[in-house]
Amino acid sequence: MLGHLRGSIDPWHSKGEPCDPEGIWVEKEGPLLFMASLLSDWPDDVPTVDLDDEGRHLRFIQIVAGYPAIGKGMYPLDWPTHPTSIKALRLSLFLDSLPVPSNYSATPFHSVRSAILYLDSKVHGYGSLSSPEGINHLHSNCLTLLFRSIRAASKENDEFSELTADEAVFLNNLHSSDNDRDGRWITGWDEAINIKRDRKEPFDSNNMHTFKLSKIQKWMEKWTSPPNENELEEWHPLRDGVRQNLLSGASVLLESLFAQLRRHILTNYRPGSIITDGGGRITFYAKKDKADVEGKLKDFVEGSFIIDRDKYHPYNHIITQSLEKFGSGEICTKCPEEVPLKTNEQQQQDVDLEDGESLKECSHGTQFPQWEWRKINRGWVPRSGAYQRFLKNDVFPKRFFPPISYKHYDETKPPLVDYPLYEGCPMCKPSHPIEKRESNPFKIPGVCFPHALTFEIGKSYKRRDFSIRTKGKYNPEGAQVHSCAAIDINALGHLFTSPLSDAVIDELHKFEINERVGINKEKLMRVLRNKESIYWLNENIDFEKESDEEFRKALNKYSSLIRDRLVIFKSRKSFQFNAKWWISISKTLEAEPQTYLGEIGAWVAAGDDLLLVRRGEKSESNETLKEILKQLDVQLQEQFPKSIPSVSFCAGLEYREVGATELTIFQIIQKSKNYENICKDNWKTRARDSGRGELYTTYFGSEEKKKPFDESFLWKEDGSPIEVLDTGNERSPVESSMICVAPRGNKNE
Ligand SMILES: [Zn+2]
Ligand SMILES: [Zn+2]
Repeated sequence: MLGHLRGSIDPWHSKGEPCDPEGIWVEKEGPLLFMASLLSDWPDDVPTVDLDDEGRHLRFIQIVAGYPAIGKGMYPLDWPTHPTSIKALRLSLFLDSLPVPSNYSATPFHSVRSAILYLDSKVHGYGSLSSPEGINHLHSNCLTLLFRSIRAASKENDEFSELTADEAVFLNNLHSSDNDRDGRWITGWDEAINIKRDRKEPFDSNNMHTFKLSKIQKWMEKWTSPPNENELEEWHPLRDGVRQNLLSGASVLLESLFAQLRRHILTNYRPGSIITDGGGRITFYAKKDKADVEGKLKDFVEGSFIIDRDKYHPYNHIITQSLEKFGSGEICTKCPEEVPLKTNEQQQQDVDLEDGESLKECSHGTQFPQWEWRKINRGWVPRSGAYQRFLKNDVFPKRFFPPISYKHYDETKPPLVDYPLYEGCPMCKPSHPIEKRESNPFKIPGVCFPHALTFEIGKSYKRRDFSIRTKGKYNPEGAQVHSCAAIDINALGHLFTSPLSDAVIDELHKFEINERVGINKEKLMRVLRNKESIYWLNENIDFEKESDEEFRKALNKYSSLIRDRLVIFKSRKSFQFNAKWWISISKTLEAEPQTYLGEIGAWVAAGDDLLLVRRGEKSESNETLKEILKQLDVQLQEQFPKSIPSVSFCAGLEYREVGATELTIFQIIQKSKNYENICKDNWKTRARDSGRGELYTTYFGSEEKKKPFDESFLWKEDGSPIEVLDTGNERSPVESSMICVAPRGNKNE
């Protein structure tokens, strides 16, 4: 491959052809100028240029990776519909489409983005070193790769006579042009850059770590709508018009947990360590003692709501505010102002507590002993004891979140926590009959803090989401919710686990064998080709049966090389999916035919779970949301033009007023989800009838898992609520998006 001008393999091309960088970076300013602005606007107390060499380099790497800070403690994937997030993802996607300059013999599995992340992770000992030797050398290598590939993409002169204007602005924002930073500016291209894996560091499955939440949907359902013995309509203590905040809040809380995890992983193990990120899990490669990495993750999650310098929660302010409201009027002033001293006996008991921490209880039966609060002018504010009580000590990590697993090989799924979580909370366990339904959880006697917090965070999220919309004019009537759509991607598992194309497999096995004479090269290639388990990265492979030691060593060496390439491929595929998915949604949210500012909102936008809402006069007949769904389909075809199967979705659409019936907001959300399920059944039935079993089958390793579905042929019937979206794109009809639309009756009937 040396010397050939060849693109970087497109992980979303069904035949493994190279990426086409054309049309990805569409901004007027050059990519380096945008990178410069991210550096200068970094939302942190410390300006970029004031950081030490390692700190500045890390920010640079984060930008390349698609993880710059866009708000305090937030990365693009934590608030993906934010305009800066979309731009940052686009930049990273652009860098991921550029090949490594041909002077450096990199596998075409690399893009310039992956190569820079790879170099960085390698020099940092694959996550084992926090500050390595030779950071400046690494930095200069990375700059060389970046500048040369951007110059190649814009057909600029590759000779290093002087920096381009954009390069200079970028370096000035990264290092400043003060005299003592002279040495950090690049003065020529680095000639020898070794992008290959370190010989002494073969790929090791034991270094793969996965953090995963399971049964998210089930958990969300129970959290917003706990089982109700009497199956009554009017039973939830919150009014239907506001209950959807619980839904938004719950999904935001899960996303925030991932936000913090991302921060934990990329500061401890480098941005390049993240392999896959999405669908309720993060997998990363970190070469540390296994117990250490997973133990640290656990500690981190358990304290995820406790804020300190390195652990900023994206909803920090709302957490404190909610806790204040929660404590308002409840503080027990019969308790002393400071924690009472412990007796010897009590100290003995405290040591026995699992996490070594202890809470002293109020002796008057409240949860609000005065010593955990402080009185200031505006009222009582929580001290660290109150945070501990309501946000740590088992509450969130062990009881509130869905089941968590920390290891990739942990196949036993932890059970869903039994509900109710808090016996006395009427939102955890609705009692019947409800005397009064409230629009504010703080007015509900006995409500638990997690429920109150979820609600407040949901409200805050909606405010944030609406605030970033720019299209359309202000609509004074706009506060009404008119319609909503629940959206789910089709065959998502298959999109990621489908077999590799022949071209990709050939490329994985393309290398020169530099072994001593005596090794049968053809046999070596053949054995590697036939070893299926080479593609299962979660388990180390061994060639124990091979008796020739030299031959076995060679097998290990080249299988490590293949797996290393596969990891690059997979991590690029995952990153690109996230970027393309959010770019599609964001373009859709800004699309015509919206008339009003914030007409379309994304109330749930967590991973691939999406809930869109249209605001407007609730009784009017209006098809905007349906048009928006068509837009989303168009955008997806634009982002994934060469994917097989094509990236499509099923959606359920419901209106507030159907004929003479008026539905509440919560009801239309529930109904749109039901329609989405009906739609999915139709999609799967159609796939089955077309002999496309792979579209509704998921694989775990080599094990096939078919989830049952209800046969439905509604799409064939006249007047069916199911519509196949025809957006004029070329693709197999069986892979098209479908929507299920509530019938709109005639009001005059
Ligand atoms: Zn008390
Ligand atoms: Zn509760």
